[in-house]
Amino acid sequence: MSRAPSPPISGDLPRDFSSREALEQLLADAFPQAEGPLSPIRGGREAADDQLARVQPGRYAKSRNHLDGAVTGLSPYIRHGVLTLAQVRNAVFQRIRKRDDGAKLINELGWRDFWQRMWLDLGDGIHDDQEDFKTGHDSGAYVRELPADVRDGTTGLACMDGFRDQLVSTGWLHNHARMWMAAWLVHWRRVHWKAGADWFLEHLLDGDPASNHLSWQWVASTFSHKPYFFNRSNLERYSEGRYCDGCPSAAQCPFEGSYEQLENQLFAPMPSIRDKGNDRNRRDRRANNRQQSKGGGNAALARPKR
Ligand SMILES: Cc1cc2nc3c(=O)[nH]c(=O)nc-3n(C[C@H](O)[C@H](O)[C@H](O)COP(=O)(O)OP(=O)(O)OC[C@H]3O[C@@H](n4cnc5c(N)ncnc54)[C@H](O)[C@@H]3O)c2cc1C
Repeated sequence: MSRAPSPPISGDLPRDFSSREALEQLLADAFPQAEGPLSPIRGGREAADDQLARVQPGRYAKSRNHLDGAVTGLSPYIRHGVLTLAQVRNAVFQRIRKRDDGAKLINELGWRDFWQRMWLDLGDGIHDDQEDFKTGHDSGAYVRELPADVRDGTTGLACMDGFRDQLVSTGWLHNHARMWMAAWLVHWRRVHWKAGADWFLEHLLDGDPASNHLSWQWVASTFSHKPYFFNRSNLERYSEGRYCDGCPSAAQCPFEGSYEQLENQLFAPMPSIRDKGNDRNRRDRRANNRQQSKGGGNAALARPKR
């Protein structure tokens, strides 16, 4: 049954267009300061159903960490209510033979649900540090403004400038790119996660305060027991070298090194994040527990074992 178009609301933008070009023209007239063409991601029920029909749970499980992996691209439709999580889950179950084949994807849908529930619980608290940073640095050590070279995509790091360009021109980034970019901004550039999170929300078509802010806090370590960080070989592997080959900063890549080296470089001295449970760390933990029981706890030292 076809529905009559909803009546125009005074001050609302039109909703029906003769073509996509007409939509683009209207937006260019209404927002002359906005640069670039429309995102290639299309809105609406038809586009959402097409995208849902392309979901491959088995390939997803094997390749989701790679930038060219079989991720679903469903987030803008889920975010705006075109698809519910239950519809996606049902589509996954219809497409698999054993329930386990859909486990990875269903698990990720669960993250979205979890962040929404946390938002209900925490309310506007999602905008604030949930805990101390476990990086050895105080919250005040992080810059509150997004640096201009990051906003403009002129850092000279092919990966980060590339992610920025994709974010701004399409409104979507792969999960791994979001994690790398957030970790770089917070841990290498020492920018407070909130500045990065607010900037992401300016551009993401799937921008959602709960998934976004709490993921940024997870990377930063204000909503997890340790900071997330990465090294060049991780980025190179999961991006198939597409940024590192030909990067103008390749000779001075800030991500070059082992996890141990980068950990020493980025975080203030404290028991190792990659704690193997040696005697020194056990002694430190005992001392820290004593200190905490006296009311002088330091969250950075209280990091649980990996
Ligand atoms: C710093 C950072 C910021 C993020 N900001 C947002 C945001 O504003 N909005 C948003 O929807 N997701 C956000 N995410 C989560 C995740 O990156 C995106 O949901 C995912 O990349 C969207 O692409 P996809 O639909 O192809 O995901 P797929 O991997 O195909 O997953 C299918 C669906 O599961 C859900 N999902 C998958 N991974 C996550 C996750 N880690 N957390 C929550 N839901 C997940 C999404 O609804 C997604 O559409 C963020 C992650 C990070 C690290």
